[in-house]
Amino acid sequence: MLRVLETIAEHPVLLTMALMALLAIGGLGYAVLHLLPRAARATAEAAALRDSEARLRTSEARFRQLADATFEGLVIHRDGIVIDANTAMAAILGWPQELLLGRSLFDICTPASHDHLRATLAALGRGETPDLGEGPLEINLRHADGSAIPVEIHARTMPFENGDARVIAVRDIRERKAAEERIAHMAHHDALTALPNRNLFRDRLAQAMARAKRSGTTVAVLCLNLDRFKPVNDLLGPEIGDELLRQVAARLTDSIRADDTVARLGADEFAFIQVGLSHPDGPAVMADRLVKALAQPFEICGHHIVIGTSVGIALHPSDGASGDELLRAADTALSRAKTAGGGGFRFFESEMDLRQQERRHLERDLRQALAADQLELHYQPLVDCEKLTVLGCEALLRWRHPERGPISPADFIPLAEECGLIMQLGAWVLRTACIEAATWPADKIVAVNLSPIQFRQSDLAQQILAILAETGLAPQRLELEITEGVLIEDTERTLAILRDLKAAGIRISLDDFGTGFSSLSYLQRFPFDKIKVDRSFIWAMGENADSMSIVRAVIALGRSLRITVTAEGVETAAQLAWLQNEDCDQAQGYLLGKPMPRADLAALWSMPDLRTRTELPQKQRKAAE
Ligand code: C2E
Ligand code: CA
Ligand code: CA
Repeated sequence: MLRVLETIAEHPVLLTMALMALLAIGGLGYAVLHLLPRAARATAEAAALRDSEARLRTSEARFRQLADATFEGLVIHRDGIVIDANTAMAAILGWPQELLLGRSLFDICTPASHDHLRATLAALGRGETPDLGEGPLEINLRHADGSAIPVEIHARTMPFENGDARVIAVRDIRERKAAEERIAHMAHHDALTALPNRNLFRDRLAQAMARAKRSGTTVAVLCLNLDRFKPVNDLLGPEIGDELLRQVAARLTDSIRADDTVARLGADEFAFIQVGLSHPDGPAVMADRLVKALAQPFEICGHHIVIGTSVGIALHPSDGASGDELLRAADTALSRAKTAGGGGFRFFESEMDLRQQERRHLERDLRQALAADQLELHYQPLVDCEKLTVLGCEALLRWRHPERGPISPADFIPLAEECGLIMQLGAWVLRTACIEAATWPADKIVAVNLSPIQFRQSDLAQQILAILAETGLAPQRLELEITEGVLIEDTERTLAILRDLKAAGIRISLDDFGTGFSSLSYLQRFPFDKIKVDRSFIWAMGENADSMSIVRAVIALGRSLRITVTAEGVETAAQLAWLQNEDCDQAQGYLLGKPMPRADLAALWSMPDLRTRTELPQKQRKAAE
């Protein structure tokens, strides 16, 4: 070993090559590189005493062998001109070793790597070690056949004969690069269809948006969802399902231009980026083409499969500033296309998004409110017009949102109806109202509103009777208010439920009478116990002679059919006086009492009637007229 080191010290070229070889083979690292020269120099003086030409030659040969034995390429150059190279270097480049000598380093690099190389040489010139800071540099060498070979290089300055030379160790990283590319492909593509996945889609979308910004053009995002994929997958099995998805992907790829991107975002969800749009109809034409392409049947393993697709379209910049916003907008438009029955496309409209977002939040909050007992019932007096006695109360739902404050039932009931929460909500209202009413004087009734949606439960009557039994409230003390909308859908089932309820002794009121379009015909179809004249008629009575005639006619009708008539929304003494004059049975409204929390009801029950309130008109005045 000592002799080896001596010889190395005498011959800087060999020293350099051997060190680079050691570095490359053993991976001993930079420490070796820094330690060995000192040891070598120490022994060099001793070696100078023994100058043996023959031994030197054998040693030279041995070190060339050592340099050549390494798999790494080694190049020694001065001012960018190659003065020596090992066989590995020649093999990497596909050139004969001797042809490398005297060449410029720039000749053996691809033009794209010249800047890198120049920077490396400049750094070496300043006495820096360029690859120590940021790790090895990667450049592309130029193979004799013209192809690019990715390599990692370490560059060093080494003592050499009459001065310094620079050594470059080169490691072929083609395999590593190929593996990296495979991994990158897997990370950016869907394994089943080989289409770009969501990550790559996001990147491409960001690029497309940046380009569109510069060129002032529009980018369209089309989100696509297959219409009947799930039943096919469930029925025919996942192998057929997978094949179907592959064929869908192929048809989609065939339908786009080279500049556009199609990606698979989820199970049966795909998305497109359409760029360089010059005509506003572009996305619609494209969506139509996609819908038609996927409407054609698929033949898979003897199965004739017909699916379809729905498409939602959003445009940048108008529908979203970021990729995520744009995707969300296209998704919103997609759900619209789905609810419209599928097999078509929809453009995003901004109100759509706001409404949907708002609704989603409200729905989530309403579910929580129901679970956390944040809902409350208020009670509004129902008053006998003539005697001014309080007959009972209508239960009205109240929701005090923790951040938004009170929200009107007129706003959240339709939402609860849409998302189905009305079933639980309705049951909660009924149970709470019955528990409350059971504590009232025995002659007071409670009126509870029912939503038409609740009638979709064919056991609604049984549920209501069970709640009465559970809370101990007599059926005669319960009034159920329904609107005529209830009789539009599945009339027979609804009528059967209403009959069961009525047979049990519960009274049924027709609420908001006059606002629908066939109120009168409903009165013939079911023997209602009460008509509640909608408040809009009461308010219009002052200015509008028609409204007055309508209210008068309803009161007359009720009298002849023996149906109680209640006027809603009575706000002024004049309105009440008129109703008394017309012999209306009952009234309800802010004049007689606003909806109040249960704590205020005790005071109400302690009053025999409201005649003590002198501002209220008394029925006797009619006789005086
Ligand atoms: P509705 O059944 O017609 O209830 C009467 C509505 O008129 C109540 O509004 C009440 O506060 C209001 N009101 C009563 N008197 C007056 C008055 O003199 N002037 C004015 N300006 N308004 C008066 P609210 O409580 O906001 O309820 C609105 C609607 O929400 C109700 O109309 C009903 O359709 C629905 N709703 C309320 N609670 C429930 C419930 O528990 N279940 C169901 N399904 N619907 C409910
Ligand atoms: Ca009502
Ligand atoms: Ca009403």
